[in-house]
Amino acid sequence: METLINISLVAALILINRYITPSKYGLYVRTAMMIFSIGIVHLFQPSLSGAIEIVAVLVFLALEKFKPRREYGHIGNNDNVMNITYLLLKHLVVISFLPIILVYFGSVSWGLSANNIPIFIQGLLLLIIIDFKQYWIHRGEHGFDFWWSFHKTHHSSTKMNIFAADRTNLVEWFLLQEVTTVIIFYMLGASTEAYLYYYIPGSLVARYVSHANIDLKWTKVPLWAYIVGSPPVHALHHTISDDRVNFGEVFMFWDLIFGTFQSPIGKVGEYGTDGISQTSILKQQFYPYRRKRA
Ligand SMILES: [Zn+2]
Repeated sequence: METLINISLVAALILINRYITPSKYGLYVRTAMMIFSIGIVHLFQPSLSGAIEIVAVLVFLALEKFKPRREYGHIGNNDNVMNITYLLLKHLVVISFLPIILVYFGSVSWGLSANNIPIFIQGLLLLIIIDFKQYWIHRGEHGFDFWWSFHKTHHSSTKMNIFAADRTNLVEWFLLQEVTTVIIFYMLGASTEAYLYYYIPGSLVARYVSHANIDLKWTKVPLWAYIVGSPPVHALHHTISDDRVNFGEVFMFWDLIFGTFQSPIGKVGEYGTDGISQTSILKQQFYPYRRKRA
């Protein structure tokens, strides 16, 4: 029932944004929509992660407004609607199903929880191991053509900002990211509460910090940016190139260890990718199954 109410609210929100919103108020509408959308999906299950995410959105939007790395001017309504729809859909899935799955998988009789490992340590281990898995999945997405046809949706954004983070193929996101994460959680026997210690910092870095359109005025890469994700380092990953670098999502030391780290200093380039729709969610979702011309 709650999920149904959520879905109807989300559908109404998308329609309101699509047909009623005057586009010249783009930034403010985006802000309100984002806060509202996060708020809605947490309506029935208020959570710490929801509250932190709302604060993060406000902080990062203010930074993007006053310290932008690139000036985009007005960001069109289509872009807004698309990115916010992605955010809503994913939140809906995560908020509706993940707690149930985690309670089920978080009560196994082996591993971290059964051995009374402190929650904070469990969260840190989850963060490191899941990010290591994600680093290799991400490399696979750029290495195998079929996987790339899914990941291409994420690279279709021509404007980097915190809203672009959630634009992904939903099958890719669900199978390669969420399901593999739950499998690791289950194998480690982590407790349900430990999930938040992984999810909150992981999500803040991988989604908001890394995709933010913020000018950090670097003259050289600071030490911390070799350890965790940062806007300039991840922006270089989004720059069109045959030779992608900086695959790390939360931690960047994977790239250092495996030789895929590159400094973003002095490198400017366009974002985006050819051949995939920039504006239609359905076309993006069905892109991997398209018929190729002979
Ligand atoms: Zn990528």
